[in-house]
Amino acid sequence: MSAARNTPAPAHAAEGVAAHPADALLRQLDDLMAAIRSADFPALLAEEVEDDRETFPAVRCPRCGDLVESEELRAVTPAFLWIAADDIESDETRARGAVSFYNDQTPELEETLYYRHREHAVRLPEGWREDWQ
Ligand SMILES: [Zn+2]
Repeated sequence: MSAARNTPAPAHAAEGVAAHPADALLRQLDDLMAAIRSADFPALLAEEVEDDRETFPAVRCPRCGDLVESEELRAVTPAFLWIAADDIESDETRARGAVSFYNDQTPELEETLYYRHREHAVRLPEGWREDWQ
């Protein structure tokens, strides 16, 4: 994890920094994401299906009842990045009137917000965990 990732969110103003009315929105966003993360969405069901007298492992969605195809199951992550400004103190930045941000980070994919089958939220089957590659 890089140092930039550890940069605190601007919503949590340091002591002595005046509060801004919109700071509350960022706190609400944090609270909302925490609530979504801990929501008890219905768990997918690991089962065996029989087709042509052979059984295959399958996963069924408890919400729509369909078998889940791999490409239909998504891990939704917020993927927030805290990218530091490149050189805000330079004459060039002032002359351009533009601040550069250089992104050499990849999203924190392991921070799953929720799982989604098609358009509805689900959980992984009981006892299953995610394994990022
Ligand atoms: Zn479904």
